[in-house]
Amino acid sequence: MNAPLSNKPRRVVIAGGGTAGWMAAAAMSKLIKDIDVVLVESDAIGTIGVGEATIPTLLYFHQLLGINEAEFLQATQGTFKLGIQFENWRDKNQHYIHAFGVTGQDCWAAGFQHFWVKGQQLGIANDFGDYCLEQVAACHNKFAHLPNNGLNYAYHIDATRYAAYLRSLSEAHGAKRIEGKITRVNLDPKTHFIQNLVLDNGQCIEGDVFIDCTGQRALLIEQTLHAGFEDWSHWLPQDSAIAVQTHSTEAPKPYTRSIAHESGWQWRIPLQHRMGNGIVYSSRYESDASAEERLLNSIQGDTITSPRKIKFQTGTRRKHWHKNCVALGLASGFLEPLESTSIHLIQQGIVRFLRLFPANGILQADIDEFNQQTRDDIASIRDFIILHYAVTERRDSDFWRHCTSMELPDSLAHRIALFAQTGRVFRKNNELFDDSWMQVMIGQGLIPAAYHPIVDNMSEDELDRFLTQIKHTEADKVARLPSHAQYLDYMANQV
Ligand code: FAD
Repeated sequence: MNAPLSNKPRRVVIAGGGTAGWMAAAAMSKLIKDIDVVLVESDAIGTIGVGEATIPTLLYFHQLLGINEAEFLQATQGTFKLGIQFENWRDKNQHYIHAFGVTGQDCWAAGFQHFWVKGQQLGIANDFGDYCLEQVAACHNKFAHLPNNGLNYAYHIDATRYAAYLRSLSEAHGAKRIEGKITRVNLDPKTHFIQNLVLDNGQCIEGDVFIDCTGQRALLIEQTLHAGFEDWSHWLPQDSAIAVQTHSTEAPKPYTRSIAHESGWQWRIPLQHRMGNGIVYSSRYESDASAEERLLNSIQGDTITSPRKIKFQTGTRRKHWHKNCVALGLASGFLEPLESTSIHLIQQGIVRFLRLFPANGILQADIDEFNQQTRDDIASIRDFIILHYAVTERRDSDFWRHCTSMELPDSLAHRIALFAQTGRVFRKNNELFDDSWMQVMIGQGLIPAAYHPIVDNMSEDELDRFLTQIKHTEADKVARLPSHAQYLDYMANQV
């Protein structure tokens, strides 16, 4: 057996206090005993200040932390999120919702989509989304907690307030915060493990394990340890965003809006007290000035902040855990926020690291396992995001013509071909998305040419009754729900 590469860790140092840093601090200070957790952040540098839409896995993370939901919603001015409405993605003036639930009922040996495809061919099926409870609830602006995990949901949150909330939890569990700018990272001359961080005031912070949450700077993992970066911008050419906050002009919807335009897309994220707006675009196809004008012309409500430009590079770190340093958040790479997956990836990285925590010293086998799992996770999400650009009827600009003619990753090309020809889709390697693949492929206009022959065991009348019964069941449940705004009021009274 190979010897550990280090001694038992006693001190975890987290560099950076954005969403990634404080999520890591909250989890480690609560869940690992006998370890000192120290977080260093620089008020002068600040955080990226975006990242406000989440996916349902965050609820699991909050359970681990023992977070009270009503208190969390109040602290972050959060709202509930049942999915994302994709507007103008399949083509202009067309929309669909990618909802967090499962569509239809799985029955027999074939998935629900096979029954739906036959129903479509016979002209007796409604839109695919009409058979998904979360989608129907979202369309009617309804929400409530239902028994037996009846509605799958996530949140929209104010990123700055979320970091502050997690900071209060972390400090309550003993994490120590140090303010200052890291100006030097010292390595052990023999092992090249990180030894300490030196701040601008000369303070030296020693540690055994370092978590790089320094955002796009990637100060430890890249600038110091040179873990390497794999560029994916040939598949995802977006490299720019502009964000602006506005006052709300309507009751918050329980879903994010993603609105495609000629060279990218815009987001609208409704919070209790304001709306988060932004535009994502490729500088190859649109100038900053034109994107800003497009954004400002389309927002509603008075602006609260000035438009903030953010440049990014899509891709991933070649090693997410290298030596005694683990990268989380923007320091580990970037995938555009189309499916709100970045905070999920932070939490996955934290949980994965906790599962592989080097309690008796760092082992190369643990590092390799961490890196392989992380890569599989990110590559699958990357494919899912590319899917939205590749499968569309839009050809109305150079940007869309590029997206629809580019060569796809083999893994995605295979998945699309399998679904297009047979309606089959499989979840691989415990990947994040499941029903979502179908919802997005169908929403983007990819209707399978064939269905599983087992469906023909059902007569046409039986199929009609089967589809109608699911649709009515979902509609009946939703009719009894309160509005999203009423439910937020109810939650506010639970604090
Ligand atoms: P940051 O917030 O940049 O924090 C970096 C920290 O490191 C700061 O505290 C900074 O002060 C500190 N730091 C840096 N250098 C030093 C130094 N030398 N010394 C001391 N401290 C230092 N994700 C989602 O899940 N959903 C979304 O809807 C979403 N939308 C996004 C929209 C855009 C346009 C972008 C760009 C990203 C979006 N993301 C989204 C991603 C999300 O914003 C990030 O994953 C998340 O905010 C984590 O950021 P971070 O903590 O890694 O980095």
